[in-house]
Amino acid sequence: MKVLAVNAGSSSLKFQMYEMPEEKVLISGLFERIGIDGSYTIKLNGEKVKKDVPLNTHKEAVQILIDELKNYGVVEDMNEIKGVGHRVVHGGDKYSESVLITDEVIKVLEDLIPLAPLHNPANITVINVFRELVPEATQVAVFDTGFHQTMKEENFLYPVPYEWYQNYGVRKYGFHGTSHKYVSGRCQELLGKQDSKIIVCHIGNGGSISAVKNGECIDTSMGLSPNAGIMMGTRAGDIDTSMVLYMKNNAGMTVEEIDNALNKKSGLLGISGVSSDSRDIEDGVKEGNERCILAQNMYVQKIVNYIAQYYVLLGGADAICFTAGVGENSKATRSAIIEKLACLGIKIDPVKNDVRGVETLISTDDSTCKVYIIPTDEEVMIARDTYHLANK
Ligand code: AMP
Repeated sequence: MKVLAVNAGSSSLKFQMYEMPEEKVLISGLFERIGIDGSYTIKLNGEKVKKDVPLNTHKEAVQILIDELKNYGVVEDMNEIKGVGHRVVHGGDKYSESVLITDEVIKVLEDLIPLAPLHNPANITVINVFRELVPEATQVAVFDTGFHQTMKEENFLYPVPYEWYQNYGVRKYGFHGTSHKYVSGRCQELLGKQDSKIIVCHIGNGGSISAVKNGECIDTSMGLSPNAGIMMGTRAGDIDTSMVLYMKNNAGMTVEEIDNALNKKSGLLGISGVSSDSRDIEDGVKEGNERCILAQNMYVQKIVNYIAQYYVLLGGADAICFTAGVGENSKATRSAIIEKLACLGIKIDPVKNDVRGVETLISTDDSTCKVYIIPTDEEVMIARDTYHLANK
């Protein structure tokens, strides 16, 4: 059965088509700069093709995607696609599991737009385009927030007036849930046990840490929005909220400008003044650039703070897992983080750590806790849920 996993952003659309239940990837690709100018890349049989074409709307991108699936002979007829799974950023507290998309679900996603003003509108647009262009396929929503719905009130509430939660839904939701679920699940398999205490470090351009006990998330570092928790590429993460009013009153900035700076001009970029990309920061560190050194030290420390917090919350840990762009690829960042956890008896082997993007156990035999690199796979999780719901 052919299933398409779709991940739409405000100006991008990533897709991967699977033969299920074998989980065989048939074709994948990325449409970029939708509404700006446009280009797309398609990957098939180990080959990559890039084309520059005007992409005014997501609908145009989906139309080209459909044409290319036929051109490349992946499908002869669109009706062969039995399921389309959509990554949806915000499911609020309505959805802890993936769901079949109905008019009612679309209405809920629209109601949740205030909580995800940049992401949910793009997700809804693309869902509607697929419902129109591939009407026979079962459409499924897989939520970034879903996995974190097992958190208890004491962990997901902020200590602010309770009415903010009751009347406006102000609480921690958490994001990257599909990745945290995949990585912690894979880690349980590697540990060979379900009853486990796992800390997942999803560190990429965005980043979040989660504490997973016996397969359930008990806490996570992102909050009401993705701009909470650790320092990220361009996001500040946790800050003293008083600086918003302070900067408004003293720097003459509007709240929107401050919010934009906290999301797009902070983090590694804000501190280094060089780049949001950890590869550039690492190059700067090697060249002795002091702001890059400071940015990297702060980045590592914020991650260590969360790992330490979750280590105590879990009452110890069986494993720490690194995933996403930085976690999978940066041996320098992994090693700097684990070095700071030496007081807990956690150690990695520099030789085992000298890998990129490969599932590996990198801790030493005498480490008190196993440390893994587990490349994330959000797309396969979307395909699995879509397959299961389409066959119910
Ligand atoms: P993601 O958001 O998961 O796609 O991660 C993207 C980020 O991963 C990039 O912005 C880089 O900062 C980081 N990254 C990718 N490759 C490397 C590498 N070889 N070394 C360090 N960081 C990397």
